[in-house]
Amino acid sequence: MHEAGLARSAVSAIAEASEGTPVRTVVLAAAAGVDIASATAAWQSAAAGTCLENTHLSWQHAADRLRCFTCAHEYDGARLDPCPSCGGNGLVVAAADELAVVSWTT
Ligand SMILES: [Zn+2]
Repeated sequence: MHEAGLARSAVSAIAEASEGTPVRTVVLAAAAGVDIASATAAWQSAAAGTCLENTHLSWQHAADRLRCFTCAHEYDGARLDPCPSCGGNGLVVAAADELAVVSWTT
């Protein structure tokens, strides 16, 4: 499962940064294609037995960067979001990371 690898790298990055200190909360941002339920399950199995075992996990949605075809306005949103300036169609110019660590606390 794709989410498993993403969750594992997030867990190991935070575990390394916290140097074994128990981590209380983690906020992750997931791109639109990531299944949050699968990623949460993957997180729990990756975190089991580490200092992130009892972490409270919360999720945000990572936005893509789009540019409008009609007026060239750049905006953050999901793949099919219309331009907030003129309502036209936008093209994704920079996709969000699939899974990014926003913040964590010990
Ligand atoms: Zn526009």
